[in-house]
Amino acid sequence: MGKHYKVTSGLLGLKTDAVRAVDGVSLTVSKGETLGLVGESGCGKSTLAKCVMGLESISSGRIVFQDRDVSDWPEKALRRKMQMIFQDPYSSLNPRQKIGSIIREGLDIHSIGTRAERRARVQELLGLVGLRPEHGTRYPHEFSGGQRQRVAVARTLALDPDLIVCDEPVSALDVSVQAQILRLLKTLQTRLDLTYVFISHDLSVVSHIADRVAVMYLGRIMEIGPGADIFATPRHPYTEALLSAVLTPDPTRRTERIPLSGELPSPMNPPSGCPFHPRCPKAFERCPQERPELRETAPGVQVACWLY
Ligand code: SF4
Repeated sequence: MGKHYKVTSGLLGLKTDAVRAVDGVSLTVSKGETLGLVGESGCGKSTLAKCVMGLESISSGRIVFQDRDVSDWPEKALRRKMQMIFQDPYSSLNPRQKIGSIIREGLDIHSIGTRAERRARVQELLGLVGLRPEHGTRYPHEFSGGQRQRVAVARTLALDPDLIVCDEPVSALDVSVQAQILRLLKTLQTRLDLTYVFISHDLSVVSHIADRVAVMYLGRIMEIGPGADIFATPRHPYTEALLSAVLTPDPTRRTERIPLSGELPSPMNPPSGCPFHPRCPKAFERCPQERPELRETAPGVQVACWLY
């Protein structure tokens, strides 16, 4: 699928260009798994997430959820089945609303259960995310960042979704709190048979939670495969560079850092051939001339690079 935005420029806005935010991406996510989407800020991963959620229309291709095109799903039914956790738990929670009311909102909108049943469900959800029943009567500002993200998780669980898109859910948190939220998400996944699309710019975060990992660059997938495989044997030079920047406590696994030169190019004017070639330490003559497509290089692993 693709998502392109038209931008106008020039005198009187007569010149039209297309920003290819997501370009020819093909992904599947199986029930119960976590697909990690990794890449630098601006690589198109959040746009892709919004398209998956049906919050953005797509320019080409299709998105199928549970054997049905996302555009064919009634809006309300889709919102029950798919939920999203956002990066900043403070701005995603209404500061004037009590926690219990925030968690209950989806149940109220969808008229699920009696008032007593909704109150009981809120208590159950507070417990599920490691908060106490009395927390339901407090306001977001009375909580730490980690607790607020727990509230955001409880709110997404209220409607019993099948798929949760987590958009940088721990980026705004301290490292120790990040680990707690990641553990919570994993526990809830096992308990409730949840499916996650987990978006992050940080490969080390993704390594803790993803079953499979897709590495994005300028709106395209550069490498995709089982997380354990990609972290042990990165093949694409971009994945290698991202992984070399990850600190590991194991001194035998430390690798020399591969610096990424220059900025991420503009998706309005992407480089010719392989989009990574201006920054790639392994680029050769063919790279700026022809664009490599994803090819299977090992069972379940696909890489878009002329070295493979
Ligand atoms: Fe680097 Fe060439 Fe591979 Fe692109 S195709 S990642 S430029 S070696």
